[in-house]
Amino acid sequence: MSTTIQDAHPVLTTRPDFARRAKAFEASPWAEAWDLVSSHPDPIYFGNGAPAREAQPLDRLREAGARAWTEADGILDYGEVEGYRPLRELIAGRMARREMLVDPDEIMITNGSQQGIDMVARLMLDPGDQIVVEGPAYIGAMQTFDAYEASYVVAPIDEDGLDVAALDRMLSATGARPKLIYTVPTFQNPTGITMTRARREALLALARERGILVLEDDPYGELYYGDAPPQPLRALDPSVVYLGSFSKTIAPGIRVGWTVAPRHLMDLLLMAKEGADIHTGRVVTRTVFHTADGFLDDHIATLRDLYRQRRDALLLGLERHLPPGTVWSCPGGGFFVWVQLPAGLDADVLLPIAAAHGVAYLPGSWFYPAGHKEHSGLRLSFSSLPIDRIEEGTRRLGQAIAAVMG
Ligand code: PMP
Repeated sequence: MSTTIQDAHPVLTTRPDFARRAKAFEASPWAEAWDLVSSHPDPIYFGNGAPAREAQPLDRLREAGARAWTEADGILDYGEVEGYRPLRELIAGRMARREMLVDPDEIMITNGSQQGIDMVARLMLDPGDQIVVEGPAYIGAMQTFDAYEASYVVAPIDEDGLDVAALDRMLSATGARPKLIYTVPTFQNPTGITMTRARREALLALARERGILVLEDDPYGELYYGDAPPQPLRALDPSVVYLGSFSKTIAPGIRVGWTVAPRHLMDLLLMAKEGADIHTGRVVTRTVFHTADGFLDDHIATLRDLYRQRRDALLLGLERHLPPGTVWSCPGGGFFVWVQLPAGLDADVLLPIAAAHGVAYLPGSWFYPAGHKEHSGLRLSFSSLPIDRIEEGTRRLGQAIAAVMG
């Protein structure tokens, strides 16, 4: 994230009447790495964290959409802020199967889970309030927290997930009093790492002791390629605010996700949602309901097969082509592998060299808040690349690293 909005729009520095929060806005970095590699005659881009386009259930969505348009009188009137009740019931049923007991009235349909992050931040954060994020953390969440002028406590991650003991020490040593812990405990973006059950329990105990609200973001929890992951935090503690999404299991462009919160918070979140966009589109939420109903389990099984093969191809390619001293995560699900470069190498410096070899990725430094950057890691996404491209991409990445190592 090298371009701030002030660079892109100098008017911000000359016009003092913009909100202070606008100074934290940054141009989205997604395109930056692609721009570097796109001039190569045969580019391979590991930066795209989106689901495979060929796995979008278009025919099913078309049928469901036709049904949604025709079925309900008044579907184009304003409707329920919380969203279409049958969809909320369907979500509650699916969550119950993962041992999360949730009343449909504790569910709010949102414009993607991204909006859930925004609504919770809107409810919780005053300028300067502290929030715990994982280091590294999902960029999009930090874009939102930045807009509310949060300040960050960055908790380290190891192969067992967020290092709760380190966070506890950090909070005690600094006297920090965060209001919120934002975590992606399962197949984390960007590392692919899953928090162990013991760590989950420890995190919830820390949050209880210190009076911190936990925000669990779980867009990948159903996309596992071997054993099911440990129970979500929400299954262990009903005070956790939980975010779900249909972006990865149906399609991201439909923009439908959901937020689960205890009733006393939900009333306020609904007021925040009403102030943001009144409600999520009524045709699209019915379309998602008709798509998911009686179909989503089989579809997810297909997705698991597809992504398992891609993940395996990536892990095999890394094994074959990356030099000794490079280590990487072995995710049990989700879309991402995190690569830690050999000592002394910087993923930001490597990126243009990799791009010259025809491969690009997202440098790890982009996944840390300002002032907390680390440069030795990078994120590879395997979700949207065919197996032969993954294999070739890892070969090129290995060549680029070798070139930098001399
Ligand atoms: N949280 C995480 C961890 C994500 O990876 C993403 C998508 N990249 C989102 C939230 C946003 O997803 P949605 O499309 O549901 O808004």
